Amino acid sequence: MIDWTTSGYDALDEAAALARAHLAGLDDGRVGPSADAAALRARLGGALGDDGLPAARVVRELGAAAADGLMRSSGGRFFGWVIGGTLPAAVAADWLTSAWDQNAAAVACSPASAVVEEIVGGWLLDLLGLPGTAAFGLVTGCQAAHTTALAAARHRLLADRQYDVERCGLSGAPAIRLVTSESRHESLTRSVRLLGLGTGCVELVPATGDGRIDVAALRRTLAGSRQPTIVVLQAGDLNTGAFDSFADAIPAAREAGAWVHVDGAFGLWAAASRRFRHLLAGAEQADSWATDGHKWLNLPFDSGFVFVRDPAAHSAALSQPTSYAIPVDGVRNQMDWNPEWSRRARGFPAYAALRQLGRRGVEDLVDRCCDNAAALVDRLGGLPGVEVVARPVINQGLVRFLDPGGDHDRRTDAVVEQIQRDGSVWFGASTWRARRVMRVSVCSWRTTDSDVDAAVAAVVAAMDEAS
Ligand SMILES: *Cc1c(COP(=O)(O)O)cnc(C)c1O
Repeated sequence: MIDWTTSGYDALDEAAALARAHLAGLDDGRVGPSADAAALRARLGGALGDDGLPAARVVRELGAAAADGLMRSSGGRFFGWVIGGTLPAAVAADWLTSAWDQNAAAVACSPASAVVEEIVGGWLLDLLGLPGTAAFGLVTGCQAAHTTALAAARHRLLADRQYDVERCGLSGAPAIRLVTSESRHESLTRSVRLLGLGTGCVELVPATGDGRIDVAALRRTLAGSRQPTIVVLQAGDLNTGAFDSFADAIPAAREAGAWVHVDGAFGLWAAASRRFRHLLAGAEQADSWATDGHKWLNLPFDSGFVFVRDPAAHSAALSQPTSYAIPVDGVRNQMDWNPEWSRRARGFPAYAALRQLGRRGVEDLVDRCCDNAAALVDRLGGLPGVEVVARPVINQGLVRFLDPGGDHDRRTDAVVEQIQRDGSVWFGASTWRARRVMRVSVCSWRTTDSDVDAAVAAVVAAMDEAS
C-alpha cells in the first residue's frame, strides 16, 4: 500500500545521517569512485516496481547503492578540474531550500527568496568590485551566466543599429562577431550556438605563452571593423589561472564599439582578496561578467551569477511579461533576469555561505586555496622527474612527469592513472599546448597543509609504481 501520510518525512533523518557520514569521511579513504557503471546499473536498475516503498528505505538503499560510485570531490584531497567544496551553512541552507520548495520565479510566489536574491546580488557586486548599479541574475552556472550576458549583448548591439532582435530574430540581423582568446572556455561556444550566433561568428585571437590574450593581436582583429562585436575576456584560465590584461584590452574593445564580457567562472573571486585583486585591474570596466558559486564560493551545485552593467539591456533580453507575475513592494521578479521560468530558490545557499564566511572569510578562502595550490606545485616541482608546466597564478597549476626514454606524455598519463588507482587523493590529466599534463586545482575550503602533504606523498608513491 502506498503511504499517503506525512510519516515518510522520517526519510530526512535517514538523509541527515547519510550526509553526515559522507561529509565526515571525505578526507580519509578513497577519493575517486570504485564502482563501475555496470555495478551501479546492476545495483540501482532493474524494472521499476509496481508497488512503492517506504521513503526512508528508498533513501537508505540509495545511499548504500550509490556510495562507491560517488566522487568525493567536496573533500580536501580532490584536485581535479575546477570543482569546489561545500560550506556547512550552504549545504544546510540547500536542504532547507528543498524542504521549503519555493518557486523563485516571482516575488509573489516567495517574497523571502526574492528579497534574499536581491541582497545576495548587492553583496556580490560589492565583494567582486563591480558597478553597484549593475543588474544580476542567479543562474545554474557559468554556462547559463554566459548565455544570459550574451543575450543582453546581442540586444544592445542590435538595438543600437535599430534592429529589434527580440521581435525579428536573427535572420535579417546584422551579423555579430565574437572575438575571444584561443584559450577561452568552451562553454562560450555553446552559448554562441544556443543564441543563434553560430560558432562561425567566433574569431580567435592568439594567447601569449602564459595564457593571456595577446592585446596587440586583439587590436589588429578589431581594427577598422564596424561589425557589431562582442569581446570575451577571461579572468582565470582553466589550466593556468591566467588573467587577461583588462586595463589594456577593455579600452581597445571600447574604441571598436564592442560589448565586453568577462568569463570569471572562478577567477572573479580574486577580487575578494587584497593579495590577488590586482589581477582584475580594469575588469570592472566591462559590460558583463559571469562567475560560479559552485566553484570557488564552495556552494553546492547548481549556482552561477551573471552581472550586466546595463540593466535595460539585461531586462530587454530576458524579461517576459505575464499577467500573473506582478512585482510586489518594488521587489524584482527573478524570472525577468534569468533564462528560466519556475526555478530553485538558489539564493538561500548563497546567502548562507556569504554570511558564514563574511568578507574576511571569502578573502581567506581565496588566499588559502592559492597558497595550497602554490605549495603543491612547488613541492611537486622539486621532485626529480617532475616538471612544472605552469606555476599557479591563483589556484590552478600544471605539472608533467618526465620519462627517461623521452615519452613524457605517456609517463604523465601513467602516473596520473596510478594516482587514481591508489585513490587516496585525486588528480586529473589534460592536454595543454599539445603536451599531456597533470592539473593541480585547489578549490575547497577543506584542503589543509596535511592534505598537501598527503598529495605529495601519493604522487611520490605513484611515480615509483607507475611503469
Ligand atoms: C567551469 C567554467 C565554466 C563553465 O561553468 P559551469 O558552472 O560549469 O557552467 C566557464 N568558464 C570557465 C573558465 C570555467 O572554469
